[in-house]
Amino acid sequence: MAIQLFVPNFRIQECLDEIKECLEKGWTGLGFKTNQFEEAWKAYTGLPNAHFLSSNTVGLHLAFELLKTKHNWADGDEVITTPLTFVSSNHAILYSQLSPVFADVDDSLCLDPESIEARITDRTRAVIYVGVGGNVGQYERVLKLCRDRGLVLILDAAHMSGTRFHGKHVGHDADVTVFSFQAVKNLPTADSGMICFRDAEDDARARKMSWLGINKDTYARTASQGAYKWMYDVEEVGFKYHGNSIMAAIGLVQLKYLDNDNSYRRQLASWYEELLGGHANVRLVPITKGCESSRHLFQIRVKNRDELMLALNEHEVYPGVHYRDNTEYRMYAHGKGQCPKSHQASNEILSLPMHMGVTRKDVELIASLVNRYAAQ
Ligand SMILES: *Cc1c(COP(=O)(O)O)cnc(C)c1O
Repeated sequence: MAIQLFVPNFRIQECLDEIKECLEKGWTGLGFKTNQFEEAWKAYTGLPNAHFLSSNTVGLHLAFELLKTKHNWADGDEVITTPLTFVSSNHAILYSQLSPVFADVDDSLCLDPESIEARITDRTRAVIYVGVGGNVGQYERVLKLCRDRGLVLILDAAHMSGTRFHGKHVGHDADVTVFSFQAVKNLPTADSGMICFRDAEDDARARKMSWLGINKDTYARTASQGAYKWMYDVEEVGFKYHGNSIMAAIGLVQLKYLDNDNSYRRQLASWYEELLGGHANVRLVPITKGCESSRHLFQIRVKNRDELMLALNEHEVYPGVHYRDNTEYRMYAHGKGQCPKSHQASNEILSLPMHMGVTRKDVELIASLVNRYAAQ
């Protein structure tokens, strides 16, 4: 049987029961389950604010739009970012007419604070930090750097649902944190995300901006019974970015199992570590001390990555690459050559299968193949 990189696991009957409630109530859109999921997410993470959206990508865009107008940033102002991410993180900067400036990563594959510091200019306004694979990397130092230099910190936590650092869920100290519940993330729905601002005023504004700039949501208007439901105001040009109750219904069920699923991911990771750790040709990506990672990914580094990938494919094992150095894309070619460590990592990294269906025996098979085919 083929072993895939990601296979989302749904508790089907429970998901159907939650969705059924939406259908019976005749409420599939914004409100109802989206409110319940926001409350459940806040209770789970301990974060003060949470607004459910249709994806992480729109959340990052919303974050930049909101912050840009809040702080009066000009077009072309700079945001320091990583080349080793899904393109959403970098596209979001461009959506808001800001300029992505690439800094390099460290061994954790997350941004290196020293490289960030070297990229700061008088037009730098923010840093977007990606917790790759669920790991925090040197986040603490990046946070301190941002505070010291007056930069806004955006955490792209697409891989970090359930990641805790020193016992606390991540996201409480960034200016804004954006999670992804896309189909193959570690809290899968189909497509959705959560934006969590530190500041309640930002959260209130994000709620308007995600619903076209309208200052009251449909559910609140209906629930408030009165006439004049159409008498809302539109305060700015917003977007249609909010999430819906069907996705929230699935999210509510998935959230119940998140800790359980993540702990199985950590089990898989420790098996991989046990079986691959001693191999001279295989480097493991280190997890920061004090980080209880969601383990969205288990990444190794080898010198013959493409060859190893093909050899694994021949044995019906299908790993992935997270990510290709974004400066290799035509869109971001202006950053080419600025981040040698990211570039090298991009040619060496391989993400091994990580999902609830992977067994100890699968890990043994994959590890034996990696050990056989990994070369200097
Ligand atoms: C998946 C992903 C995104 C985008 O998430 P969507 O919910 O699919 O929009 C952004 N950043 C990173 C690092 C991701 O892995």
